[in-house]
Amino acid sequence: MIDYHEAQKLIEEQTKPLNAIKLPLMETLGYTLAKNIIAKYPIPTFNSSAVDGFAVNVNGLKLFSHKNQVSLKVQAVIQAGDTRKHSLKNNHTFKIFTGALVPRNINTVVMKEDVEEIGGNVIFKTLPEVGTNIRKCGGEFSKGALVLSSGVIITPPVLGLLASLGNASVNVYRKPKVSIIVTGNELKKFSEQIKPGEIRDSNLPSLLAALQLLNIQPEYAMSVKDQKREIQKAIQKALKISDVVITAGGVSVGDYDFVKDVCSSLGIKTVFWRAAIKPGKPLLFGTKGKKLIFGVPGNPVAALLSFYLFIKPTLLRMMGQTEKQNFIQTAVLESDLRKRAGRLEFVRGIFIKKPDGKLVVNPTKGQDSHMLGGFANANCLIHFPKDENVIMKGTSVKIELLKWDINQRAMSEEHRATNKKQ
Ligand code: AMP
Ligand code: MG
Repeated sequence: MIDYHEAQKLIEEQTKPLNAIKLPLMETLGYTLAKNIIAKYPIPTFNSSAVDGFAVNVNGLKLFSHKNQVSLKVQAVIQAGDTRKHSLKNNHTFKIFTGALVPRNINTVVMKEDVEEIGGNVIFKTLPEVGTNIRKCGGEFSKGALVLSSGVIITPPVLGLLASLGNASVNVYRKPKVSIIVTGNELKKFSEQIKPGEIRDSNLPSLLAALQLLNIQPEYAMSVKDQKREIQKAIQKALKISDVVITAGGVSVGDYDFVKDVCSSLGIKTVFWRAAIKPGKPLLFGTKGKKLIFGVPGNPVAALLSFYLFIKPTLLRMMGQTEKQNFIQTAVLESDLRKRAGRLEFVRGIFIKKPDGKLVVNPTKGQDSHMLGGFANANCLIHFPKDENVIMKGTSVKIELLKWDINQRAMSEEHRATNKKQ
């Protein structure tokens, strides 16, 4: 049996970002940028007005500054989208709107609210500062500047930025092709009636849902009986069409646990089998060429937790996310925890932020690995170290916040606390 960190390391060693592909912009949501995005021209590309108002040249206005106010004639109206070139004449101003091109010899736009319009004349009462209300050409990015780095996940604002830069297609890392095979004679679909002795399969739905939150559509999803031949056929097919094959159940030491043997018979190299963690001890990790195989245990909490702890980071790395995810916090335990020493236990917990800002945590009800309720009501995992058998109430413990979606950049403390699920 190997330790959690050793298991993580062994998996990481086998995981590299997949090749980059070029996709039409509107298909890139949830992918990761495979190349830096450099500004090909200054952004914004022209000086534009930030308000609805009147465009002037402050120097021109200064000529009249001995008076209390200046009256100028409207020379032209410049609407957003107007590409005509104008040159300001003496004693004149342009009526201009938000987003409209600011003519060359204009250096300020005065807000509509700050002037008085009488007929075709505009009365200015204050002398504005140069540059006011003008969005400068190159004000956000100068030509050649780094706009977005490779490794950034394409979220709605990233996609919007790419669009504004004119990227009709984008270089992104390919997503892994994933297949899921659940095993068990006792399994029925969630839509089916069951007799005592049978259970509804929750692993396929929960694992598919977890994939969905990473924006991955499975290549193949299958439920098979505890029969060697059937398991073999399914894994063989999955291997052919996938980068990652996930099996659930049948990987322990029971007489009908065939996954490990079948993997060997298919030439899959076992990197490790069994990790000193709870739940999830019988975890199997193997490779065949560049393909990765995860055999997660069948107990619903163990299956999904194994996905969360090991498979999700692997898939994210394959998708080009090399940044280490860190959702570890410290919280004060509000009730005693006990276990047998020997395995790192991921206790499903619920943390809250107290008014004084301190985080406190409690285990959820239902900690056995078949009890999905305890996981469903959790917002974190309490790390109960391998060699300890008791942690007393009041002790500070390490908690790992549960975040299932792809956009998992580290959040600020404040954001984390307000995002807590109660
Ligand atoms: P196994 O890992 O195959 O020995 O299964 C361990 C436990 O998890 C058994 O009680 C199984 O009935 C249960 N189990 C296995 N697969 C599933 C599944 N897909 N959905 C729900 N429970 C399962
Ligand atoms: Mg089984």
